[in-house]
Amino acid sequence: MMGGCSDETLQGGPTSMTMRRAALQPVIIGAIASALVITIFYFFLTEDINTEIASVEKNKGNLAGSLARQAGLHVQTAVAALEVAADMPQIQSTEYSDLISEENKGIPVAADMEKRNVQKAILSAVPSFESVAFLMPNGDVYSVEPSILQQNLPVVNFAYRDYYTEVTNRQSIYVSAAFQSTATYNYTSVIAVPVFKDGSFVGILVGALNLGVINEQLRVLDLDENELALIVDADWNEIASSDRPAGDTAPRRSFSHLQDIVGDTTISARTDASGEDVYVTHAPVDLGSNRWSVLLIQPYSDAFRDVYLHQSEALSIIAITVGIMSVSGYMLFRSMLGNVRLTDRLEDVNEELKGLNQSLKRDKASLESLSSELRSKNQHLEYLAKELDLKATQLKEMDAAKEEFAAMITHELKTPLVPIVGYTELLADGTLGELTPVQKEKVQLMHDSAVSLSRLISDLLDIRKLELGKMKFDVLETPVKDILEPVVDSFKPLAQSKQITLTYAPAQGGNSSNLVLSCDPRRIQQVLNNLISNSIKFVPEKTGVVEVMARRNADSIEFAVKDNGIGIPEEKQAGLFRKFYQVDTSLRREVGGSGLGLAISKGIVEAHSGKIWFESNPRTGSTFYFSIPAVNNATGGSKA
Ligand code: ADP
Repeated sequence: MMGGCSDETLQGGPTSMTMRRAALQPVIIGAIASALVITIFYFFLTEDINTEIASVEKNKGNLAGSLARQAGLHVQTAVAALEVAADMPQIQSTEYSDLISEENKGIPVAADMEKRNVQKAILSAVPSFESVAFLMPNGDVYSVEPSILQQNLPVVNFAYRDYYTEVTNRQSIYVSAAFQSTATYNYTSVIAVPVFKDGSFVGILVGALNLGVINEQLRVLDLDENELALIVDADWNEIASSDRPAGDTAPRRSFSHLQDIVGDTTISARTDASGEDVYVTHAPVDLGSNRWSVLLIQPYSDAFRDVYLHQSEALSIIAITVGIMSVSGYMLFRSMLGNVRLTDRLEDVNEELKGLNQSLKRDKASLESLSSELRSKNQHLEYLAKELDLKATQLKEMDAAKEEFAAMITHELKTPLVPIVGYTELLADGTLGELTPVQKEKVQLMHDSAVSLSRLISDLLDIRKLELGKMKFDVLETPVKDILEPVVDSFKPLAQSKQITLTYAPAQGGNSSNLVLSCDPRRIQQVLNNLISNSIKFVPEKTGVVEVMARRNADSIEFAVKDNGIGIPEEKQAGLFRKFYQVDTSLRREVGGSGLGLAISKGIVEAHSGKIWFESNPRTGSTFYFSIPAVNNATGGSKA
């Protein structure tokens, strides 16, 4: 049976695609989650940065606004002081205007002390005022405090000055553009207020406001590195700056290039006209007839350093997070993929097992079919065996019948030959009357042929009997001499006629006359007959030698018939003892023979439990041996 791989094991299980999808799912979910987290993180970061930027901008805006308010307050305080004074009758009174002289650059210092006292009071109330002057509607100087300045004035009439023109024309307060004092290098702005008495324009109260105070305010600000706080006038020329002390002799700087990008509002701008990346915060200082601006200027990278530091830190964190997520995602994916591969391999193995299972099933089926085929073949063979048995029995029966027939035929053939042989012999030897030589010769031929035929029939009968084990052996204790001598003697006449030497030698070193053999002497003589007859046939006439020998071995008696005849070629030796075997040569054909002699001899020897063999070669001739156990009974045939 299919041990170990049941069908249940082999069935089912998700397909490779499903497994792959299953492995990819967490990875995709992870990737989406990461993207979401990063997006949210980035969103909050952007929000945070925007908030920080806004906060920086707001702080700077606040500072600029506060500076603008302070500057405005400074000017407004001065304006207010002048306005308050302008309402006072001491200022409105111009009763000493007749005393104005070119020489005094106004009225004499001692005249109109009341007005001068108010002017002094303004100076002490607003310390930034360097001087406070009163001008007549035609622009002539009336009085200047501190009075020392009045005497040093270059001219007495100031109608040419912008504030005179502005105030006269518009009859309202005027704050002039700032200018650098040639004496103190301080920036100064002139504030001019029209003075009315009973609705009539009676003069102008003018204060020269030192802006050094504002400058000092900028100087003490806690600014960032590279940050510059400025106040510029309407022409965008500096009037105060955080990087220069009041009264600095350096040339006045213009910031008009920032005018276009800053505009009117308090917003900030990034790039200045020179292409430098700066951050400018702007706050206007509204002075009514004039307008100044507070500017905070800083390189952009400095202004938002903390923000960008924070941003780059956050971006680094994002990058690290993305990196970690990617790596762990990749590892996860790989391990998932590894699982998928393992699953794939398992599936492959499963598939292979399935295939194996199926092939085993097929093998089993084919084995079963083979087995059933074998069974049927077996049955068929059994049937055939029975048939064969039947046929064998039939054949045996047929054989027996045939043997009987052959025996009968042979017997019937041999029987008529007996009188033929007998009477032709009587005829030939003249017993039945003298015959003519020709008649005698023919009768002799008839006799020889009949003898040959009779011998052939005897041989045929013998071989058949031997094969069937039906040859009869009359076993007697017989001296070997009694067996050998008559045979040798019977061949003597033939040998003599051919001048062949035929000897019978007793065994070397022993006396064959003592040897006794338990055998059928006639059959042993038949064997010797065959062997001697063959030797005589194949030795040359005159020089031929045939020796017959017998000797006692340890437990057998060995006979030998040796000749110096034509021998038997080695390639023809095998099969020599088979019946009807003949070595085919012209000489052999000449001498004739049935090819039964050696087969019969072998049968007789073996029936006596003996052995028969030979040594032969065409140069020296042949020696045929046979040995019979010393005390033995012939077997293979029936004993007499
Ligand atoms: P056959 O009756 O024809 O002689 P055998 O069985 O006696 O038949 O001998 C078989 C063959 O063996 C013969 O045809 C012969 O050629 C060969 N043969 C037997 N004895 C000898 C021998 N001594 N020398 C040479 N050839 C022999």
